[in-house]
Amino acid sequence: MSSDYRSLGLKVGLEIHVQLNTSRKLFCNCPTKLVEGSEDFTFDRILRPARSETGEVDVAAFLEWHRGKVYRYSSPHESSCLVEADEEPPHEINKEALAIAIAIAMALHSNIVDEIYVQRKIVIDGSNTSGFQRTAIVALGGYIDDEDGRVGIETITIEEDAARKISETDELVEYKLDRLGIPLIEIATSPDIQSPLQAERVAFKIGQLVRLTGKAKRGLGTIRQDLNVSIAGGAKTEIKGVQHLYMISKVIEYEVIRQINLLKIKDLLIKRGLRPESISGEVVNVTEVFRETKSKLIRSALEKSGTGVYAVVLKGFKGLLGIEVQPGRRFGTELSDYARVWSGVKGIIHTDELPGYGISIDEVNELYKSLSANEGFDAIVLVVDRAEKAFKALQAVIERAHMAFNGVPEETRAANPDGTTKFMRPRPGAARMYPETDIPPVEVSREILDEALKLTPEPYDLKYRKFIETYCLSPELAKEILNSLRLDLFEELVSLYGSRVQPTIIASAVESVLKSLKREGVPIENITDEHIEQAIALLAEGTIAKEALPNLFSKLAKEPFKTAREAAAEIGLEALSISELEGIVEKAIEENKSKVLEKGERAFSLIMGEVMKIVRGKIDGKIVAEVVKRKLNNALVKFKGL
Ligand SMILES: [Zn+2]
Repeated sequence: MSSDYRSLGLKVGLEIHVQLNTSRKLFCNCPTKLVEGSEDFTFDRILRPARSETGEVDVAAFLEWHRGKVYRYSSPHESSCLVEADEEPPHEINKEALAIAIAIAMALHSNIVDEIYVQRKIVIDGSNTSGFQRTAIVALGGYIDDEDGRVGIETITIEEDAARKISETDELVEYKLDRLGIPLIEIATSPDIQSPLQAERVAFKIGQLVRLTGKAKRGLGTIRQDLNVSIAGGAKTEIKGVQHLYMISKVIEYEVIRQINLLKIKDLLIKRGLRPESISGEVVNVTEVFRETKSKLIRSALEKSGTGVYAVVLKGFKGLLGIEVQPGRRFGTELSDYARVWSGVKGIIHTDELPGYGISIDEVNELYKSLSANEGFDAIVLVVDRAEKAFKALQAVIERAHMAFNGVPEETRAANPDGTTKFMRPRPGAARMYPETDIPPVEVSREILDEALKLTPEPYDLKYRKFIETYCLSPELAKEILNSLRLDLFEELVSLYGSRVQPTIIASAVESVLKSLKREGVPIENITDEHIEQAIALLAEGTIAKEALPNLFSKLAKEPFKTAREAAAEIGLEALSISELEGIVEKAIEENKSKVLEKGERAFSLIMGEVMKIVRGKIDGKIVAEVVKRKLNNALVKFKGL
């Protein structure tokens, strides 16, 4: 398969963003924690695109402004101040965050800059109160080694995280300011990656490197992956917001399929002798055609005042809109995305899906006739809405149809949960960056470099030796842990509990136990690092036995809002004392007295089986065997003595 991708000329670059667990934010003294249910101060803003130094207005910025939304911010006092509200200039850049970024740069063989200059990057979806995101390049170049070849590093950047979106309607977007300003490290690779699996592997390695500094935040949303994907003849597509590592390869596979299909559509257009100019672009009011329609969709939309049915003819596009470009998404969906994003309409209807939606074949025929279009050759796109909105929507459709003649448009797309993607905005131009004049440049001093050296992750070969020689892991388990997403958690747990719980038990808790539960279909993705730490703490204090871990994790996977202690108590997993165990063994022997007499010492497995039914998961099986053996011998002596 990877050779197929090579012949397609697949090129993938990654942008990995990881939230840093620093004590304060990047440009102020607020802590880097999210807060819930606080008494917040709120204020509203309307944002406008500013011209960059070169006088251009960024297209992506223009699109956001075009939507005319109001942004409402809530500012929790525990986690935000006047800096987040853009009412006070930013403070000097956080040196702790800088040191972490430099530590990563060292591990990636990257060239650290002499002075850190903060830049402003225009972002006006409202997620930054100032209308821009502050970002600073820390290092350039470098590489990471991978089994399919070396992957170059382009930049290592430190930037502020955006505000947290709470809700969104057509008119109002609400954000919370607790997340705004949390330091993010962004590592961008060169487009050297040649297969979906390689992308997944490299993303994992880079994420793990950041976690190994011990300064990465944990949990959902703390790491985000953006992908740049292109194939030969296609175009660089930027895909935002892939939250799970395991989705990376799927998103890339689907994007390759999309680009292949868009190139096929381009070829078909050329074969049909069409050119962009063939599309007249005239928007026509065709409400009259649907005067008597039985289509509920159209009738209910027409009930609102000022609405009508508007149409454009896409000359020669018949059949193309129905072509599937990604699983469940057709070329028509791509047109519909543009209509929705640029005008706010709910969607479009096109003739490749008609008759349908209650629209009859007669109405379709009438539609073609009223627009003097060719039923065997042309496609028609409809929008039912107010005139102004419908015009905007259909102009966006025409613009997208024009782009089809070039194959793949340069776009920023958002990942859907199933691995397909949808259009978000055009790819931002270079016009979006300009210098931040409120913050003086910071020299990378000896002091910062020394701080960074302390954080630079220990090389893998050293770790491997330590795991085997000091922690007594088997070579297999040591390898498994080195490749684990929870490597840093393992190391942290060993440093906290290693004196009371053997590292091999911690290693199997974070890896083998969870893996075998996953095979059984237990939803282990619900198990958090906190759950695992709580479970190891219970082991350390002797509340549970290691045999209880599978049951405990399986309960927590199903009821993740519980703590490990609550879950253990509910299913009665607390470890048995020896005297409790002895009582259970004595009872089992007494209840099976006749068989014990008959079988003698060979009754061991029978009694063991009976006892294990009761105590499984609560105490070590070896201890049970010892007690059963001892009690059985005593009983035989006693029975025979009677
Ligand atoms: Zn603040």
